[in-house]
This record gives sequence, C-alpha cells and structure tokens, in this order.
Amino acid sequence: MTSDLEHDALINRIDAVLPQTQCTKCGYNGCRPYATAIAEGAADINQCPPGGDEGIHKLVRLLNRPYKPLNPQNGVEKPLVLAFIDEAICIGCTLCIKACPVDAISGAAKQMHTVVKALCTGCDLCVAPCPVDCISMEPVMDPQEARHRHDEKQAFADASRERFEFRNMRLERDKLEKADRMAARGLARQDVDVDTTQTTPSTPNEATAPVIEDPKKALIAAAMARAKAQREAQAAASAPAQGKQEDKDSTKDSQ
Ligand code: SF4
Ligand code: SF4
Ligand code: SF4
Repeated sequence: MTSDLEHDALINRIDAVLPQTQCTKCGYNGCRPYATAIAEGAADINQCPPGGDEGIHKLVRLLNRPYKPLNPQNGVEKPLVLAFIDEAICIGCTLCIKACPVDAISGAAKQMHTVVKALCTGCDLCVAPCPVDCISMEPVMDPQEARHRHDEKQAFADASRERFEFRNMRLERDKLEKADRMAARGLARQDVDVDTTQTTPSTPNEATAPVIEDPKKALIAAAMARAKAQREAQAAASAPAQGKQEDKDSTKDSQ
C-alpha cells in the first residue's frame, strides 16, 4: 500500500510530463486531475492529444507500462495553434477571459479583448463561449516563435502550470470573499427585516416588485443584437445587386 506522500509524489511526477495545456481533452478538468486519475488507475496513459505520441512515450517510461497509441476518442495530435481575437467584432463581454485557464486574455468589460500570445497554450476553451464568433485558432506562422515554443516546451509547460494554479487560487479566494460579503449582507438584511416587521408593513408594490435583470446579461444581449443587426444590414446591402440581376433575368424570360 502506498502512503499519501508517495501517492502525491507519483501524481507530481506524472503531472510534470504532461503539457499543461489545460484543455480538458483527456476528459479531466486539467492536467493535474488527469495525472491523479492515471495514478489511481482510473485513466489510461493515451488520453492527452496535446502531449501526443511523445507524451505517451514519456508516461510509458515513467510508469513502466506498455505503449498504446493516442485514443482517437480524445482527439488527434495537431500542430500548435494559438487563439486570435478579431478586435473589430469583439463586444467586450469578457466571457473568453472567464474561460481561459491560464489568464492569457487581456481586456475589460465593454472593451475589445486581446490574446497575449506568449501565454496562450492553444487549448481553444475560449472559442465556444464567444457569443459573436470572433475568436479563431491559428497556426504559429512566425518560424522564430515556433522554434522558441519547441525549444522551450518544458519551461513553457511549467509556467503554464503556475499560471493555472495561481488562477485557481484566485478564483477560490474570490468565491470565499463573495460568500463572506453575501453572508454579511444577509445578516444586515435580517436586521432590516426585523425592524420593518416591527414598524412598517410592506406594501403590495414592494412585494410584487420585478426582479432587476442581471445587467451583464442585458449588456451581452444588447451587444449581440447590435452585431446581428450589423450582419443583417451588410447582407441587405449586398442583396439589391443580386435582386437587380434576378429582375433582369425575369424580364429576359418574359420577352
Ligand atoms: S493537456 Fe489537455 S488533454 Fe493533456 S492532460 Fe492536460 S488537460 Fe488533459
Ligand atoms: S487564449 Fe484561448 S486558446 Fe489561448 S490559453 Fe486562453 S483559452 Fe486557451
Ligand atoms: S468572448 Fe468574444 S466578444 Fe466576448 S470579450 Fe471575448 S472575444 Fe470579445
């Protein structure tokens, strides 16, 4: 039987050879959870597409297990791609920032967002949440950058792990602080309720007052409506030319 220390050490060693893309394609919520599942015998060694064949061989050597090719159910091995944001279309909703596991996107609410290429792992987790489809994954075109990424692979993976862990810590801290604030507000509210029941009964208007809509959701909905209207206007602008051509054709047919 292995001790907790030995178990943790094994997870650390497995995690150390994973690429730290944090893409979840292995079926786990990041590289360390996948490392934990391998250490516990719950996952196989061939579930990480970014690690690819080289990564599987590393795990074979580390764990002394038989080699098996990448499981196609987890994806296929591809060249590195990085996220690119079309800033002309971005509506500044911040959903991509929330999705990025390594804080590689900069921007603020209602402002255009930008990918910090040097930090992007290519996980593509920011693509699906974007409500206006302005994020694309593009190959690394600069040969110097591609060589740097290749030569510094381990250093980049270690830095990405740190960024991922730091982000998780920050999110956990934010959650705790929010819970504290909500608890404090709840207590304050209880005090007000007690005072109110003692002095002023609530009016029917207060009881039936509508819940205020989430302002962030309203902002996204409005921005999406604007983007949709823009697309429709562009489509309408190109339609008359086509309509004229169709009119000409129908005139010819009737002659
Ligand atoms: S890089 Fe992606 S697929 Fe590979 S272990 Fe990490 S999260 Fe899983
Ligand atoms: S910018 Fe997008 S692709 Fe790059 S690390 Fe963040 S979520 Fe992944
Ligand atoms: S999710 Fe898309 S629209 Fe929203 S901030 Fe990111 S890039 Fe811009």
